[in-house]
Formats: sequence, C-alpha cells, structure tokens
Amino acid sequence: MKVAVASGKGGTGKTTVASSLFSVWPELAAAIDLDVEEPNLHIFLCQEPALRRKVWLEVPELDEDRCTYCGLCSEICQFKAISIFEGVGLTFPEMCHGCGGCFQVCPADALKIERREIGSIHGNQRFLMGRLRVGEAMSPPLIRQVRLEAQRIFDPGMDIIIDAPPGVSCPAAAAVRDTDYILLVSEPTPFGCHDLKLAHEAFKPFGIPMGVVVNRAGIGNDEIYTYCADQGLEIISEIPFDRNVAAAYSSGHIVAGFSKHLGDLFSSMAGYIRQKALQSAG
Ligand code: SF4
Ligand code: SF4
Repeated sequence: MKVAVASGKGGTGKTTVASSLFSVWPELAAAIDLDVEEPNLHIFLCQEPALRRKVWLEVPELDEDRCTYCGLCSEICQFKAISIFEGVGLTFPEMCHGCGGCFQVCPADALKIERREIGSIHGNQRFLMGRLRVGEAMSPPLIRQVRLEAQRIFDPGMDIIIDAPPGVSCPAAAAVRDTDYILLVSEPTPFGCHDLKLAHEAFKPFGIPMGVVVNRAGIGNDEIYTYCADQGLEIISEIPFDRNVAAAYSSGHIVAGFSKHLGDLFSSMAGYIRQKALQSAG
C-alpha cells in the first residue's frame, strides 16, 4: 500500500509531513524520496545510508556500418532522441529516456548500447532516495529506478510513504501515478490555493483518492477552504502555524516528535490516511 505526499509547489511543508507521518505510522513502513532534484527527506530519516550506487541509463549509439537508414528507430522514439535522414543518422543521448524501444525495432542490429549516468540511489532497508546528477535534465528515468530498487529491497508487506517532487509536471506525475492515496500539502494563502488547484486538476485523472493537509493554518485567508468544499476535496488535518514547529524543522527534527499535541495530530492523520489507502487498494 502506497501513499504519496505531494504539493503543487515547493516549500509547503511536504517533507515535514512525510517525515512526521513515517515516524508515527501505525504499521511497519518504508519511505521513498522521489524529489530527486532536491531530496531532503534523508536529513530526517537516513543520514548515513548503507546503500549507495550510481544509476545509468542505456542509450543507443548508431553503428553506421550496419544501419540501413530504414527510420524505424526514429519513428518509435517518442522523445526525438534519434533522427534518421537519407543516409544520415543522429542520436541525442541526453534526450533518451532509456525505454529500449529503438533497440527492439532495429532489424539490422545497428544500435549499440552506451551508458549515461543519470544520478544515484541511496538508502537502507526502510528508506530510499534518488539524487539526480547535476546537469542531468530528466528525472523520470531515475524515479523509475528508485521505485524498482524499492521493490527489490523493501519487505513486500510494508506500507510505503512517498515524498513526491513538488509541482505537476512529469516527475510529480511519475511519483504519484500508482499510489493508493495522494495527500496534498498546501497552505492557506492565495498562492497555496492556486497551486493546490493545479495539483488537484493534474492528479484527478489518475482516479486516486486525494485529501489535503493545510500547513501553517491560521495565516492567509479562507480561499483554500472554499475551494476544497466546492470540489468535495477532504481536508483531513490542519497543522497550526507555530514558530516552534518551524524551528524544530529547520534544526532537522521530526515535527511529530516536537510536542504531544503534534504527535497526536500526526498519529490520527496517519491512521486515517492508512484506512483510506487500504480502502482504495481494495
Ligand atoms: S532501425 Fe536500425 S537500421 Fe533502421 S535506421 Fe534505425 S539504427 Fe538504422
Ligand atoms: S531508448 Fe527509447 S527514448 Fe532512448 S532513443 Fe531509444 S526509443 Fe528513444
């Protein structure tokens, strides 16, 4: 059973919520940080990872001696990473997503496998994160690899909490797509509400149940509450705006452990989300 903690923009408190939920989760859980461009969940959950490995993508290199310039590889590549003209073939490894399609369709065995380093995976038996290589533009292939690694090393009976990348583009969609519940973290400001709307609209087509946590409750205005009520989007909890909470977070402490009140708040949130996710997982 998987729960994604997501947000329409960065800085809403997504990692605060993910780390706190992990710390009070009612069953054995593992966590994955798929915010591979700026991972920071490890600061709370795994500062000294036992596992560290580089991740490579298999990309094609054209063997001009074998190529017949039939163009099949170029036709199948959705990412324009191969172009074939009459008697000329070009590959663009930095645009390749490593889907393997071109290798499969080439009838002349004219594509050799090259490797491109896209980042690294770090973690242990209950935590994994991806870290995108500096200069690497595409995060979905690394996100895919982190998910595969999780399948390999996590106990299959464990619940999984995913810290998704902020925003609503491909990396965020890749992180929430096959989960059982999406928790949207937002704040009660016009900006927060705007980004919540974007995330809600972007993830709705997946048909996964969603709920909202309002972080820094007490600041801003009521726009977010009106939107959620109009959309039938459940606000499952509110985390009060509190200087001490921000101080605990900035010093690397899990917020759920900061006070009994916050511990109880996150425990009841975790129990409720787990119930919703289990219903969704059927
Ligand atoms: S499919 Fe193979 S033979 Fe055809 S253009 Fe591509 S590399 Fe060349
Ligand atoms: S592996 Fe996939 S993405 Fe990469 S060049 Fe081949 S078809 Fe395109």
